[in-house]
Amino acid sequence: MKLDRELERLQRIVVRCRKCPRLVAYLQEVSQHKPRRYRDWDYWSKPLPSFGDPDARLLIIGLAPAAQGGNRTGRMFTGDRSGEWLFNALYKFGFANQPNSLRRDDGFKLNDCYITATIRCAPPKNKPLPEEIENCRPYFLEELDLLKKVEVIVPLGQIAFAQTLRSLRLKGAEIPSLSFGHGKVYEVSTGQALRTPNSRLRTFTLVVTYHPSQQNTQTGKLTKPMFHKIFKMVRKNLEVES
Ligand code: SF4
Repeated sequence: MKLDRELERLQRIVVRCRKCPRLVAYLQEVSQHKPRRYRDWDYWSKPLPSFGDPDARLLIIGLAPAAQGGNRTGRMFTGDRSGEWLFNALYKFGFANQPNSLRRDDGFKLNDCYITATIRCAPPKNKPLPEEIENCRPYFLEELDLLKKVEVIVPLGQIAFAQTLRSLRLKGAEIPSLSFGHGKVYEVSTGQALRTPNSRLRTFTLVVTYHPSQQNTQTGKLTKPMFHKIFKMVRKNLEVES
């Protein structure tokens, strides 16, 4: 099966997933209690599929969909404040065709970039439980196998960073304890320790950033120049590799 079809098949499975009862119930509740400004929206309120370019060299890992953002529009980061920052940075550095996306049918496209998340259902207060992260991890592990050209991974925030390391360790990477910090860069290789016929050595560059959440952007912990610097580093890294 072709790679893009494999990714589509996986995303169809994701959208039907009901492994986390707390989140399934929460998504129903969100769609039944819409804020006034979104009352005309038909909320997606299901697990969100990942999206992007199947040949991407850049993989971005978010935390979780926002209840009134991606969970409303049906696409990760689409229509929320974090998405405004992320899409603007991706556009500026040539990874997207538009500087923002408010609806999933507005023609926004990623180029050489794929966006996924630690969990795919919006959690109450943006706080997933450890078992919900565990439940969702197999989807990410399968995406990592299918996205064969990924060279650079950008986990957004500390939880996505920790979960990326955990997933890469499960893929055979022998990673020492690495500290989280905005702008830190790490090289990680997988494949050797698995010793299975399908295991192969892959090397990823991890570029670490604070999450562009309102909590970070409104307090000045993350500024636009700081965030753009991350994607400048990514672009430079990909140019060196190609
Ligand atoms: S968070 Fe992930 S594992 Fe849990 S229900 Fe949603 S898609 Fe399924």
